[in-house]
Amino acid sequence: MSQDFSAEQKRYLEGFAAGAAATRVVAPPAAAAPVPTGPDAPHLAAQDAQVKAGGKLVDAEKWKRDEHPFDAYARLTREAATGKLPGPADNFRWRYHGLFNVAPAQESFMLRMRIPNGILKAHQLAGCADLCERHGGGYLHVTTRANLQMREIRPESVKPLLEELMDLGLVARGSGADNIRNVTGSPLAGIDPTEILDTRPLARDWHFHILNERVLYGLPRKFNVSFDGGGLSPALEETNDIGFQAVRVTEGPEAGIRLRLVLGGISGHHDLARPTGVFCRPEEATAIADAIIRVFIDHGDRTNRNRARLKYVLDAWGFDRFLGAVEDKLGRTLTRIDEALVAPRPATDRYAHVGVHPQRQAGLNWIGVVMAVGRITGDQARGLAAVARDCGDGDVRLTVWQNLILSGVPDGRLAEAEARIAALGFSTRPTPIRAGLVACTGNAGCKFAASNTKKHALEIADHVEARVTIDVPVNIHLTGCHHSCAQHYIGDIGLIGARVPVNEDGDTVEGYDMVVGGGFAEQARIGRPLWKAVKAEDAPRHVEALLRAYLAHRTGPSESFQ
Ligand code: SF4
Repeated sequence: MSQDFSAEQKRYLEGFAAGAAATRVVAPPAAAAPVPTGPDAPHLAAQDAQVKAGGKLVDAEKWKRDEHPFDAYARLTREAATGKLPGPADNFRWRYHGLFNVAPAQESFMLRMRIPNGILKAHQLAGCADLCERHGGGYLHVTTRANLQMREIRPESVKPLLEELMDLGLVARGSGADNIRNVTGSPLAGIDPTEILDTRPLARDWHFHILNERVLYGLPRKFNVSFDGGGLSPALEETNDIGFQAVRVTEGPEAGIRLRLVLGGISGHHDLARPTGVFCRPEEATAIADAIIRVFIDHGDRTNRNRARLKYVLDAWGFDRFLGAVEDKLGRTLTRIDEALVAPRPATDRYAHVGVHPQRQAGLNWIGVVMAVGRITGDQARGLAAVARDCGDGDVRLTVWQNLILSGVPDGRLAEAEARIAALGFSTRPTPIRAGLVACTGNAGCKFAASNTKKHALEIADHVEARVTIDVPVNIHLTGCHHSCAQHYIGDIGLIGARVPVNEDGDTVEGYDMVVGGGFAEQARIGRPLWKAVKAEDAPRHVEALLRAYLAHRTGPSESFQ
């Protein structure tokens, strides 16, 4: 029997097999259901166990069982070539290949890539610019997982697009549906003068591990993993199902650089990842994350999508039982370290992802480019790629703040690089409002959205910048629905899309519920509800009022918005 089965599953499968054998005495073999085998066996066995316990599988689980999305690729591409957009079951399967039918918001596909640690090469960004013009709407979005999305893709284009993406050395496999999403890491990895650990090798190892382990495509729901190197610009690992935080252990047999394991982050469900007491060496991270996910595959809820995330297994079991199951999978105990032996992590800088900063490498700099809620045209992407190649080290670093960073720019090329960036329509010197302005796709491209988040975010910025002089960083996050892609709960000010009634006939307009006081990194906190059903047209004045109240009542600039 495969070593991928938990002890509980093995007992169940042995019982199942024994029962089937007994049945053969009185019934023909055809009556016995097959025992799952192969790399899909763990999730099929988990489905069987939950059905046997009286549960009813959700549609997504049935679709996976009827035809695994990877086995459906040839059929899906054949059907797309006829110009047809897929229905719900095949739309779900397409997401395993990184493509989403986003009708009715847009009668087309959206492509989401995978960019480990958010870092790609200049030629890859320039290639994406060409692809979005040839196969999509001519623009790209930088997402809140330091990733790129491309929209308005015709069905006939999806197969050539996926192939040409691979020609660039980029993949989209597993970037949607019930899969492990793009791995994030510290955006300044390797160039940050204060970082404890360069997260790039960790993100790369995890990226290739999950791409090549089919078992890890059997999850009950989506899953996020992040590595934070402990430097100036945070990776927001506390909002992930698994977060690894680089720390320095000061004494004892484990003294040195370690990763603290935090689990269960899902800000849309009001939870940030919590420390487990477990620490590991950097080279152990992939194996530990793999074991955690295998436990989740065995025990995550496949009968209720709202409770199918890791948080709910942790809530039901507690850390002790869960980590015991992880140790069973690993075949060894995990290392616990007393927090008293762990040094405080370096302070983060909420402006590190924007503007010019000296690198750890003498004479070199990074330039954080401010983007309007992550949107970038093909021409702009090609232009930035050229600046990265001509003036920098050729790396383009996407961030969870929906902007990008060009690294390795010598002191003597800074003026040229900044001038070329400005000529492309971007700033490197943002206001505090624009440095922390984050918005999900919104109803211009996502059917779940109640409001046009990107448009309203820019309206808010225009309004408050003209009226309030703010001297501290302020994060304003707009998210279109409870899926919380823009993480409104960790913004200083968060807005979640809501339809706002305007009369007794049931007519509604776009609007938001508002939360305040969220935070991240050393100020990690879930925001508190403040106002409900604010019309979108009134949102800028509400944000202005909050900022004025903060300025009027704070004890000084060092007092945070929280
Ligand atoms: Fe769509 Fe909701 Fe995500 Fe916004 S938060 S992109 S509306 S799913």
